Amino acid sequence: MRKKEILLNKILYKLSALMEFLNFECKINTMMQNFDITIIGSGPGGYVCAIRCAQLGFKTALIEKYDTLGGTCLNVGCIPSKALLDSSHHYHDAKESFEDHGIGLDSLSIDVPKMIERKRSVVDMTTKGIDFLMDKNKVTVLHGMGTIKDKTHIVVKDKDGKEEEIESKNIIIATGSKPANLPFIEIDKERIITSTEALELQEVPKHFIVIGGGVIGLELGSVYKRLGADVTVIEFMPRIVPGMDGAISKELNKVLRKQGMKFNLSSKVTKVERKGDEVEVTFENKKGEEETIKGDYCLVSIGRKPYTESLGLENVGVEVDERGRVKVDEHLKTNIDNIYAIGDVIKGAMLAHKAEEEGILVAEQLANQKPHINYNLIPSVVYTWPEAAGVGKTEEQLKEEGVEYKAGQFPIRALGRARASGDIDGMVKILSDKKTDEVLGVHIVSARAADMIAEAVTAMEFRASAEDIGRISHAHPTYMEAVKEAALDATEGRPIHT
Ligand SMILES: Cc1cc2nc3c(=O)[nH]c(=O)nc-3n(C[C@H](O)[C@H](O)[C@H](O)COP(=O)(O)OP(=O)(O)OC[C@H]3O[C@@H](n4cnc5c(N)ncnc54)[C@H](O)[C@@H]3O)c2cc1C
Repeated sequence: MRKKEILLNKILYKLSALMEFLNFECKINTMMQNFDITIIGSGPGGYVCAIRCAQLGFKTALIEKYDTLGGTCLNVGCIPSKALLDSSHHYHDAKESFEDHGIGLDSLSIDVPKMIERKRSVVDMTTKGIDFLMDKNKVTVLHGMGTIKDKTHIVVKDKDGKEEEIESKNIIIATGSKPANLPFIEIDKERIITSTEALELQEVPKHFIVIGGGVIGLELGSVYKRLGADVTVIEFMPRIVPGMDGAISKELNKVLRKQGMKFNLSSKVTKVERKGDEVEVTFENKKGEEETIKGDYCLVSIGRKPYTESLGLENVGVEVDERGRVKVDEHLKTNIDNIYAIGDVIKGAMLAHKAEEEGILVAEQLANQKPHINYNLIPSVVYTWPEAAGVGKTEEQLKEEGVEYKAGQFPIRALGRARASGDIDGMVKILSDKKTDEVLGVHIVSARAADMIAEAVTAMEFRASAEDIGRISHAHPTYMEAVKEAALDATEGRPIHT
């Protein structure tokens, strides 16, 4: 009996100690965490901003509603799309080009689920890399939906509904964007899909219909075309990638048609209907006639819209523009003096590297530095094969602005490097000021255009003339020689190899 009493007492003692400990823990948990800077959204804008803030000595928090960091770009955008573009490119190369190189293959097959699994592991590795960077830089990461309560307080609600309130001297909105839709289209995420689902298909579609001939539509269309699907693109404008230079859009259209993609330009989609495992898409073609096509998947890629749901903008009166984008001034400050916004959620190109630059700008400004972004020199890239890339002014913009310019061009097929690899499609076009010869725009369709455009950005940041580029030694044989040759053409109309 005595033994039992002692044991019971011991248990009660431990229990009360535990209760006391838990109680203490509760007190700690209810003590509000406070930060110098809190960033809502962990995409390339948000996480890069968080790292820079931490580097500059700010006590920094990053809030993300999903379990993984990295936002659209790392989870359902840039990285997974490039993983699938690379996988499908290998398959297509093996099927179409290996024989020309004297390489025979007895059998060739595609395992789509494995391809998708590989893509997932690439995403996984990349997002884990961001966790590591947050730890390394001592950024506090809070997972949950962030809602701005007032100028200096944010409520973070996790997926189990548990709420935590934090205090922050400054708030940076980096909540990104979501796929846009047309009001009459019901996206069922199975057959009528957005880019997110298109990155997860478990089979090669028979007929993949793409609504929207912009970057995302062309890249994902390319993936499935290379894997053997019929691909039809329906575009409202008279040309694909309408924001790019006209000659580039024309050249890209030509090479993609050569690869078998079909295009309906100046065509307006009026109805999208799912019938079993089929999708019927009706559109008004460029002659004004109604046409209906059938496919097994329809990707709606008509652009993206800013994402501000549940953010609590109304609680503090942060203004948005007519397109729902958070309004900012040239310092990326909203109408509230300690709240900033960056990336897809504000005006400008919806690109990861633009979001990153903006994240760094806001962090450095808060540290009283004087950073600057040259928005004219944010390059844009389409990762088709060949790739398309451009920076600076397009020819159409120069005409509209009444700028007198010279244009130089060089065809990729004239390069020794291109003939050696067999990637001969494309061209480089350089636009320079008629009087000063300063480079105003560089536009490329070529294998590796995404990397080539960096030379143009560097040259233009240093306000190089076309002659400068023409006189710089370029390694031989490389695709970059086409940039030099186009520059020589723009300078004096004297390329060497054409
Ligand atoms: C298929 C596809 C391919 C692309 N390819 C490229 C490419 O090759 N190159 C390129 O430059 N761009 C590409 N983009 C565009 C690029 O992904 C975006 O421009 C970029 O991700 C924008 O970054 P961001 O930081 O502004 O926002 P996002 O990356 O969208 O991140 C915003 C984050 O905020 C989180 N969030 C939102 N609201 C809240 C809230 N209230 N609380 C907590 N968290 C919240 C979201 O969950 C998300 O994680 C692609 C996009 C897609 C869809």
